[in-house]
Amino acid sequence: MLENQELRKAGLKVTLPRVKILQILEGSKGLHMSAEDVYKALLEAEEDVGLATVYRVLTQFEGAGLVVRHNFDSGHSVFELARGEHHDHMVCMESGEIIEFIDEEIERRQKEIADQHGYEIVDHNLVLYVKPKEKS
Ligand SMILES: [Zn+2]
Repeated sequence: MLENQELRKAGLKVTLPRVKILQILEGSKGLHMSAEDVYKALLEAEEDVGLATVYRVLTQFEGAGLVVRHNFDSGHSVFELARGEHHDHMVCMESGEIIEFIDEEIERRQKEIADQHGYEIVDHNLVLYVKPKEKS
């Protein structure tokens, strides 16, 4: 199974909870999930994994570089699979929806600004907090 290989590659032993949680994160709903979202998805799939285990496994995944944790202001940490490519986020303050985007101009400007200060960017994290536009 693909999940088993991914776990081993990340240096983690293959256990049932780890495989199940990885499968959920790889599913279509898994783009940005809180620990509670993962727990609920496990319940729906009738998998017997407790919330404490979900937290522990997600933290292990984060440590192994399998997932990235985001601490958006809107509440709980959310996790997404580390896909190795950069993107920024928008968080809707009304629905909690998380939208991904990438803008070459913003990327370029950030490099220029760091450069003007004598630095190069190691990493950056841009989050826009948004709400639906009011209809006029
Ligand atoms: Zn994302």
